[in-house]
Amino acid sequence: MFEVAPGVTAIDTFMGGRERYTAAYLLTASQPTLVETGPGTSVEPVARALEALGIEPGALAHIVLTHIHLDHAGGVGSLAGRFPNATVWVHERGARHLADPSRLVASATRVYGDERMASLFGPVEPVPAERLRVLEEAGPLDLGGRTLRALDTPGHASHHLALVDSATGVVFTGDALGIHVPDLPVLRPATPPPEFDLELAIASVERIRAAASSTLLFAHFGPIADVDRTCDLAVRRLQEWTDAVRGVMRSTTDLDEIVEVLTREAARETVTGAQAQLDLDRLETLAGVRMNAAGIARYLTKEAERGAISQDYAGPQAS
Ligand SMILES: [Zn+2]
Repeated sequence: MFEVAPGVTAIDTFMGGRERYTAAYLLTASQPTLVETGPGTSVEPVARALEALGIEPGALAHIVLTHIHLDHAGGVGSLAGRFPNATVWVHERGARHLADPSRLVASATRVYGDERMASLFGPVEPVPAERLRVLEEAGPLDLGGRTLRALDTPGHASHHLALVDSATGVVFTGDALGIHVPDLPVLRPATPPPEFDLELAIASVERIRAAASSTLLFAHFGPIADVDRTCDLAVRRLQEWTDAVRGVMRSTTDLDEIVEVLTREAARETVTGAQAQLDLDRLETLAGVRMNAAGIARYLTKEAERGAISQDYAGPQAS
């Protein structure tokens, strides 16, 4: 645990027992609020951290999620049970999947396989529907002494929100800017299938840039103070990775070949040294090259189909 801004404490959620992979944040206010929960394997570490921070089980007022991917929200059902007065806030497209996580679990299992599902994420409990609320961009959440405002930030996922704290101007970025390895100037895009969309992702980075008057708080992992440089880097990486995949797809749609090219692209931003293997493991676990390749390839295929449709449409009218 460490304070990242006045009244904002970062909590290492120890996803699957791993240090500094995923963060949750506690906002101190008359209605104490947890941003993100980590997955099912994070429930004990997060509950212990909240206890150490003096939050009684009945005192946690809100749990707010940037999106419902399991590394961010897999533990919310169990934590809601431990903290029985907390209201759970999420994007409207995410709410029903928290009330019934079966589809969420099925799609994550397709991506990660049974073994990694169990070791990284652990069990996923539902949230009782009556404790779920939809967080809209229009209505800031009043925590008593500070408010939390949602920014619609699709691209990584269509239901992704970033959150702005009124008291400090920090922004909780979820996965919208990608994955940041602590202490290193490395930013890896997070472009998973099936929803990654380049244009939306870049617009979301710009939206975060405009809203952030202070530090960016990454879910993976921790604070970055330099907003402009980080947003520039996030946009550049998104474009470079997409361009690399677009280049391969001129000659093939074979995923293995796309992965090979993207692995070379990823190597350009990987830092060498004693920490290098651990850092690479972090990046691969959180936003693996193969998953990113599949997400970008799917996006480009959809884009090409859209192009073909609009060309058909334009055809008869062209003179
Ligand atoms: Zn995510």
